[in-house]
Amino acid sequence: MTTTTKYIFVTGGVTSSLGKGIIAASLAKLLQAQGYRTTIQKLDPYINVDPGTLNPYEHGECYVTDDGAETDLDLGHYERFLNVPTSQSNNVTTGRIYQSVIEKERRGEFLGKTVQVIPHITDEIKHRVQILGKSGDYDIVITEIGGTVGDIESLPYVEAVRQLKWDLGEDNAIVIHLTLVPYLSAAGELKTKPTQHSVKTLMESGVMADVLVCRTEHELPKDLRLKLARFCNVTEESVIQSIDASTIYDVPNLMLEEGLDKVVLKKLNLKSEIPDLTIWNQFLKRHKNPKGEVTIGLIGKYVELQDSYKSILEAFIHAGAENEVKVKVESIHSEHLTVESAAKKLAHLDGVLVAPGFGERGVEGKIEAVKFVREQNIPFLGICLGMQMAVIEFARNVLGMQLANSTEMDESTEFPVIDLMESQKSITDKGGTMRLGAWDCKLEEGSLAKKIYQTSNLKERHRHRYEFNNDFKAQIEAAGMKATGLNPDTGLVEIIEIPSNNWFVGVQYHPEYKSTVANPHPLFVAFVKAALNYKNNKNSVSMAQN
Ligand code: GLN
Repeated sequence: MTTTTKYIFVTGGVTSSLGKGIIAASLAKLLQAQGYRTTIQKLDPYINVDPGTLNPYEHGECYVTDDGAETDLDLGHYERFLNVPTSQSNNVTTGRIYQSVIEKERRGEFLGKTVQVIPHITDEIKHRVQILGKSGDYDIVITEIGGTVGDIESLPYVEAVRQLKWDLGEDNAIVIHLTLVPYLSAAGELKTKPTQHSVKTLMESGVMADVLVCRTEHELPKDLRLKLARFCNVTEESVIQSIDASTIYDVPNLMLEEGLDKVVLKKLNLKSEIPDLTIWNQFLKRHKNPKGEVTIGLIGKYVELQDSYKSILEAFIHAGAENEVKVKVESIHSEHLTVESAAKKLAHLDGVLVAPGFGERGVEGKIEAVKFVREQNIPFLGICLGMQMAVIEFARNVLGMQLANSTEMDESTEFPVIDLMESQKSITDKGGTMRLGAWDCKLEEGSLAKKIYQTSNLKERHRHRYEFNNDFKAQIEAAGMKATGLNPDTGLVEIIEIPSNNWFVGVQYHPEYKSTVANPHPLFVAFVKAALNYKNNKNSVSMAQN
């Protein structure tokens, strides 16, 4: 516990994609493990008000918080590392900053003054940075500045950091600059020049880096560290190597070895001790020493992009470690799935997850996948759109409603088993208008979900407009697909199951957002376990037949 909140800013130099989010999350983990209440915030310099309207091809997954913010996927890393929920305040974009400044201007709050980038935009940035600190909930706030220094769009943020360093004082605010030290194979050398230049760019804006974290593919030798220290105005101990790791979950330990936490705490005039990483390291040990393997098919339309289903992939890592198995995720493009190809592409899998998504593209392939796994009794987990596809498949192939669909795909379908919520029908704006954030769910006694969650009431995070249409509920239930989780206030269906199958679960919400290292999500843990059982049974049946 500290009396004043301390601020750590993380900037990036040389290139994007250096992993500022993972460095920030790893440092936060080390500080949290020494008893400091730590949170992380991301400032994104684009003009979208939030990433909710961005295509996954542009920006990867959109992560959702309990309070319904549609945010950058780095917030997912923060929660997975820290096991503390984030909120609307943890992600701010230039669009959001401008929106609130312009709204204030329209209300006349600037009293006739000319509204300018400096001081009005920078003041709004400074205000947003300090909201978390002033809440009294945190000793340390780490603020990651998106983009790369030198970008035009990053300038107001860097200026806000410069001012905050002055306002808050040396001991209370520091800057960590993450840069790249490239290896030129032709010369056989690591090169420091790009780092020198990006530190210089930062200094041109009046900001001195206090710590350098250098991404590198090779060990940084001592002479190079000294050189970087000398040219970049930092002490030798403030030059931290961040070498490529086989898993992001190794980074906290790598940063600990490099002493990042120590040097940061020293600069902030806080005491440091040995962080307690017991739970973290137990997870790592299980993750790295699996006793078996299961193969799970991930059916989606963005499968070629790692970042589009980030939280699902990470949730499998947590659930795999919990079950002490490696989860091999096989990505299957839903557009390439047809009646003819389904068996060939899916028969060898131990479990199938049909992914969330929007729009028509690829949905028929998802429906074929559900049909195959339902008939073959392969463990199935459908998330959001994946759950909706399971309902449509069941209506079409079990209830004989051949043209059953979601009104998202076919507005005039005769059997709208998935339909727009009444409250959504009048909405025309796309941004921030879905059913978002944590909603209550009550589980049915005796259901598989109840057995998995071990509780009757839960809250899970949502991001969708369409819902299970309760007009068809009685018919669907009578045919064997049960609604086992309902929202207690609205009666909206949150979970469906087919109890006559071994493990067939669809959820309207996104369990993947809540899976963390310290708290792997029970649904993913149970799904991986079901896949393992399925695989073992399959093997014993084929052995008996031999
Ligand atoms: N497109 C569907 C809906 O809006 C599902 C959304 C999702 O999978 N997140 O309801």
